[in-house]
This record gives sequence, structure tokens and C-alpha cells, in this order.
Amino acid sequence: MNSRALHQQATPAARVMGRRPTRPGVRLPDGQAQARRAADASAPAAIFVKQAPPFRMASRESHPEGTIVTAGCVLIGTGELVVMAGPCSIESRQQIRETARRVKAAGADMLRGGAYKPRTSPYDFQGLGRKALGWLAEAGRETGLPVVTEVLSPEDVDLVAEHADLLQVGARNMQNYALLRRLATATKPVLLKRGPSATIQEWLLAAEYLLSGGNPQVVLCERGIRTFETATRNTLDLAGVALAKQLTHLPVIVDPSHGTGKRALVAPASRAAAAVGADGLLIEVHPCPGRALSDGEQSLDPREFVELMLTLRPHPAAVRT
Ligand code: PEP
Ligand code: MN
Repeated sequence: MNSRALHQQATPAARVMGRRPTRPGVRLPDGQAQARRAADASAPAAIFVKQAPPFRMASRESHPEGTIVTAGCVLIGTGELVVMAGPCSIESRQQIRETARRVKAAGADMLRGGAYKPRTSPYDFQGLGRKALGWLAEAGRETGLPVVTEVLSPEDVDLVAEHADLLQVGARNMQNYALLRRLATATKPVLLKRGPSATIQEWLLAAEYLLSGGNPQVVLCERGIRTFETATRNTLDLAGVALAKQLTHLPVIVDPSHGTGKRALVAPASRAAAAVGADGLLIEVHPCPGRALSDGEQSLDPREFVELMLTLRPHPAAVRT
């Protein structure tokens, strides 16, 4: 290449300095190399200042060891996949007891079930409230499974905490700061779902409300975010799960039911979640999904749940206290 052609290829900066551009491995004649080194030494050095993340207490920098959260007798964040399963909504005493028995037999570690339901439409089933909480606790006791259920408002925190081992903040409430502040003073651990339009930083800052307010027992849950895609109910952000695991010491679990909205996608999404390092799964299971009062189309029946568990679990149940 002649010197004119080289000059035309030079970067603007190199042209201003009147330098010949170099590529790695290209040796300059000795005199030029010396002049170049002298020029580089006198150039102002770029200063890189590493900014601390705004989620100070949640950041892995502040706490390099992973946090282990204790929900009843189950430990979340040990490296073992913790499976929480049960119906979207608790519909009757018999329904939650039967589901508890079936998911326990399949190897679930915890029982889920909604008593207070955040529904998009006020005309949809809103949950059975207080009496459903009692049935959930009873089903948990009968099977020995700790229970997780959603709390919708600060006034309900004490009541829900009396019945549940893990208090779920739903996606719609991730930025309900009054609720987060109240839960920061609760004596039970919190499962914080990611808001459908929340960035990972906003999610971790929501967790920061709980940690800075005094509750160190926080589990994060990715449940799908809203994107342009309508073929699935939400877009399950599994790269976000892997990233969250790097950014925070808190355990991160995945909800493949809300994350996909489709029964047939729950098993592959569960396996993918395990592969990216999720600490657990939250899966909707209903004894008869076709008759479910909420989210039947994304609920597994007990047999499908058994099949999923067989592919997920090369080794037995989660670490227990
Ligand atoms: C649920 O778990 O039933 C639920 C309502 O989830 P989300 O808050 O993720 O929509
Ligand atoms: Mn649901």
C-alpha cells in the first residue's frame, strides 16, 4: 500500500497528529517508534472512574457471597433449584389440598396459591381472601410444604405473614413503595416479582427498599416483561436473570407460567431457566386447568408437572434446614 492510500485510511485523530496509522504487529522504524512513545507519554491519560451501582445493598460488590433466603424449612440460593408450585388462585379448600398433595408427590419444595389476586379487570375473579389464606396454610401443614402467596396492600401484611412463609409482591406492585416499606419491617422473607415494564436496575432498586428498610431476606422473580411480541403473554428475560445473578447477591427465581402464558412452553422455559442459573421456579399447577378461575391456559395439570419434574431434577429435593 503506498503512503497516500495509508493516509486516506488513517483515523481523523491520527491525521491531525500527522501519524501513520498502525495495526497490531506492524513495526515502526526505530526513530518513529521513539517519537511515538514520547508523544504518548505526554498525552493526558484517560481516567476511568468505576461508579458504584445505585442499588448499594443489593449489589454483589457490596456482598460477594450469595445470600441464602430461608422460607419455612426451605433454603433458596444454595445452588439447588427450588420448585414452588400450585394454583394461580385458591378456589376451594379441596382444590388447594389436592394440589398440595399432587405437587408434593411430584417433588415440589414449596406450595404457591393466590388468595388476594391482582386482576387486570375488576370483573375477573379477585380471590377468596382471608379464608383462602387459612386453607393454604392448612394444605402447607398437611404436606410439610412452606407456602408462598401474594400480599396486595400494606394493611394485609400482618395477616398474610401469619399464614405464609414467603410473601409475594406481584409484578404490578413492584414499585408500590408503601407496600415495599411495610414489607421491609416484616419478619417473613419477600419474593419480589419484576414489573412488566421494569428495567433490571429498577427491579434491584425496588429490592433496595426492602433491604435498606431492614428486611435482608429477599428473593427476586423474573416473570416476563412486556415487549412488542404478542405470541407469548410476556417475554421471559432469561438473559436478564443471568445478568441479575451477576449484579446482585440475592437469589433469583423464574416464573415460566406468567413468563410465557402458554402451558406448552412452561417445561422448556423451566429448563432454560435452570440452565441460566436460576435459583428456583414458580410454576402454576391446577388439578383441572380447563376449569381454573384464573390462568388455566398457562397452568400444568398434575401429570404434566410430574413429567417436568422428572426432566428437571437429576437430584432430589432442595436443601432444607
Ligand atoms: C401470580 O403469581 O399469580 C401473579 C399474579 O403473578 P404476576 O404478579 O407476575 O402477574
Ligand atoms: Mn396467575
